[in-house]
Formats: sequence, C-alpha cells, structure tokens
Amino acid sequence: MSEITLHDLEKQYGETTAVEEVSVEIEDGELLCLLGPSGSGKSTTLRMIAGLETPTSGEISINGDDVTDDPAYERTTSTVFQDWALFPHKTVRENVEFGLKMRGVPADERAQRAESMLERVQMDGYGDDDPTNLSGGQKQRVALARSLAVNPDVLLLDEPLSNLDKRLREDMQIELREIHEDLDETFVHVTHDQDEAFTLADRIGIMDQGELIQVGDPDEVYENPKNQFIESFLGDTNFVNSRVTRATADAVYVDTDLGTELVLPTDAEPAVDEGTALTLSLRPEILSIDQPSADGGTAAADASEQLATDGSSRTAVTGTVENVVYRGSTVRYSADIDGTSMFAERTDASTGALSADDQIRLEWNGADVLAFREDGTRVSL
Ligand code: ADP
Repeated sequence: MSEITLHDLEKQYGETTAVEEVSVEIEDGELLCLLGPSGSGKSTTLRMIAGLETPTSGEISINGDDVTDDPAYERTTSTVFQDWALFPHKTVRENVEFGLKMRGVPADERAQRAESMLERVQMDGYGDDDPTNLSGGQKQRVALARSLAVNPDVLLLDEPLSNLDKRLREDMQIELREIHEDLDETFVHVTHDQDEAFTLADRIGIMDQGELIQVGDPDEVYENPKNQFIESFLGDTNFVNSRVTRATADAVYVDTDLGTELVLPTDAEPAVDEGTALTLSLRPEILSIDQPSADGGTAAADASEQLATDGSSRTAVTGTVENVVYRGSTVRYSADIDGTSMFAERTDASTGALSADDQIRLEWNGADVLAFREDGTRVSL
C-alpha cells in the first residue's frame, strides 16, 4: 500500500490556479522532494497533504484512508516550516514536548521522548535553553525534533533549510538524509533548490505552474527530462537552435547555429519532419575540451562522416575561447562557435589550460544530445 496518494488534486485561489491535476503515489518510507521554482504550487500541495488547505477538488489518502476532508489535527502528519515557529516563552524541551502534551502523553514519557529527539538532532544539552537565544540552524533542529517527537506517519518539510547559510544548509541536508534513513518514515520535502533535492531525495517530483510534470529518481529526471523546462531547471546547459534537414530510421540530421550539421542517432524513427525547429541541449559534462590540432583543426566533419557504422556519432566544432572562469573544482570555458556562445567545463584545472582568444575544440557523442520541440516537449531519439 502506498503511504500517500494524491489524486487529481486541484487548488484555486480566486482566479489563480495554484495546483492543477496533481496525482502521485508516495511510497511508505520514501523521501519525495517536490522541486520547482517559486510559485509553482509546491507549498500549496504540501499544505493540502497536511490539512492546512482544503483542495478545490481531488482526493488525498494516507495509509489507504481518504483524509481529504479531515482537519489537520486528525491527520498522522507533522510539518516543519521555513520560519522556525518555536514558542518563545517555552524552553527548548517544552517546545519539543508540546505535541506530546497535547496528545496527553504522561510527563516522564514526554521528557524521555524529548531527550531522545534532541539527541537525534544533536541538540542534547540544550533542553533548558530559551529558543530565542539559538542560532538559525539550532532553531531548525529543535523544530525538527518537535515535529518528529509525535512520531508522525508522514513528515512534511516546507523549505525548512532555506533560511540557513550555504554551509549549514549543506550539513543539514546530509543530516536530514541520515535522520530519514534512521527513522524509515515517509518524508515529503519542498524545495526550490536543485542541489538540495538531489542530495536528499529518493525521488524528485518537478512542479511548474501548478502541475507536477515529472516524478522520478534523481538520475532519471536529470538524464531523461520530460521537457525543456526540466532540462533548463536542473542545471546549466547549452541550448542550440537547429532545424531538421532529414530524418531516417538511424538518425536525425539537423542544421545548427554552430555552423555545422549535426547527427542525432536514433533507435526508432522519431516523429519529426524535415523543417521542424528543434532546440538541442548539450550539457557541459558531455563536451570534451581540446586544443585544435596543429594544422589549425577542422570544423565538424561532414554530417554523414559523423555517424559510425555501429550507430554512434561523434561531432566536433572549433571556435575561440571568450573567457575562462576559475570555479574552484572546475574551470569554465566560454567559447564563440561560429557566432554562437557555448560553455564547457574541465575538472582537471592543472592540465592543458586554455586562455582567452585561444582556439578551442569541443567534441561530443551525438547520443548524449537531447532535443526539444518548440512547445518544449522532448523528442525521443
Ligand atoms: P511554491 O510553494 O511553489 O512557491 P505556492 O504553492 O506557495 O508555490 O503558490 C502557488 C501559487 O498560488 C502562487 O501563484 C501563489 O501566489 C498562489 N497562492 C498561494 N497561496 C495563496 C493564498 N493563500 N491566496 C492566494 N494565492 C495564493
């Protein structure tokens, strides 16, 4: 049985459709991240699961029970919010015990449970402290302990780390992941931060304009995005304009803004016609960087020469380095390729460094290039 089922969930605020036709099954013990830009409907979805918002239509079930019309306090969920929302006039321990007290748990059991939760979030020893004196990270640990103390079936986290600075946020992501692994409970975590989602999630659900566009394992959504929005949202890439010149059972041939024809190998003849405009995505990690050979290097080979007999294809383009940005673990090169700007990255900063105005050669495997139609849908190649 899946722990949480959302079926055709919708939320209207007047004219605004905050959430539209969201359906997903969240497995028992899973950590699902809802990821999307601000205003995409993540929080509203989470708040409907919590019972803090009533859906305009659709159903929510938890553990097989339809809870759509149940108030928040009757649900077996617990929520951690972005703002710490600790009670200022209570000690840390009293804050953590609060939910247990409301549920009538006896004092000694409450104290024991609070202590073990504070230990779990590395805040043991702070029980008697005034929460207003804690740092942002400490407050959020206490908020987490308070939410976990009531032993919820589902922990809902609404951007809980976004007010923390980068270093602390990264540490807390790892800790949250460990807490989730320890507890083996279902977590639904809302974030607009791709790195956070990739660090934490078992699966990522990507939202845009109220819709849940794709749900999948982190590597699946990254490598196999359903549309161009996801491709651009999940990391930096080079988008290149192109137009189909020929489509066969083996390959799609496209004319590009890189001054060369490219070959995209296919497994099955894709549904694209000659003349169709496609946006190609070439992620920096698929591009290998070199200096052109001594003879000045050649531009891309003729398209028919790019396709090997085994069905693979390799393409190379040459151009001029525009700028070099040292980024610590990587060096990023921007290059002018026949009037189009492209960037690529190198991890081994020490070898074969190129400078501005040097010639550069970028090479890639055609199978690693993704293609999107004008409406953003992906062409399956
Ligand atoms: P996210 O969490 O992805 O940033 P939200 O779920 O908060 O997005 O918001 C989705 C949309 O619904 C936004 O356009 C937002 O302005 C709108 N919205 C959210 N809550 C309310 C509300 N209480 N009243 C009116 N509009 C709202």
